[in-house]
Amino acid sequence: MSVWAVLAAAGRGERLEAERPKAFAQLRGRPLLAESLERFEASGWIESIVVVAPPGWEEPVILLAEELGCGKVVASVAGGETRADSVRIGVGEVAADAAVIVVHDAARPLVSDELVERVVTPLSQGWDGAVPGLAVVDTVKRVGPDGAIVETVPRGDLVVVQTPQAFVADVLRRALASESASAATDCASLVEAQGGRVQVVDGDPRLLKVTSPEDLALVEIWLAA
Ligand code: C5P
Repeated sequence: MSVWAVLAAAGRGERLEAERPKAFAQLRGRPLLAESLERFEASGWIESIVVVAPPGWEEPVILLAEELGCGKVVASVAGGETRADSVRIGVGEVAADAAVIVVHDAARPLVSDELVERVVTPLSQGWDGAVPGLAVVDTVKRVGPDGAIVETVPRGDLVVVQTPQAFVADVLRRALASESASAATDCASLVEAQGGRVQVVDGDPRLLKVTSPEDLALVEIWLAA
């Protein structure tokens, strides 16, 4: 089974307040992107990697991959306006004969091969896709524009989903081609919208998406542990 990874790294990361795009924010003295690149390079599941870079940073991504010895990186392409646009551009670089595409946010540096295995395995059991999810532990409210609570949402069957998300390659290609795709905040929602069956598997709290400087500090602590 040929598994390709698309690393979405084209976000601007404005909430990190750094001069560089988020993928190049410093994590223990290296670009954030280095962590997931190295982990996918070492993965027994991933055959090839496409990096979707912040526009203008395609070359630094290639240099970083070379520096890290990441020979699986076959392309570095400039991302688009939204995450879905970036993923669509990245998927355009995936070989036509790839069986599975794993889409991962470079902003989640602590990806493990065990997680990749967990999302890839359901695809050989008839699922169109699989995504890691965590149970919602807090009480969830829907809130109006004035701050007034409109509704308390039962949380029993709610999960928050993470990446890596794995899909049958052709199913993901079709889903990304839909007209309303650009606005989607994850790939699974596009596959779901087309009637695809996506399974939620156990996620990992350490797959935290780095958004703020505090998140970076927390990931550094986890890496040092
Ligand atoms: O913006 P957000 O934190 O949801 O981004 C999630 C992931 O998608 C990040 O790894 C970011 O680099 C990527 N992204 C992208 N292209 C965009 C916006 C976000 O590749 N236009």
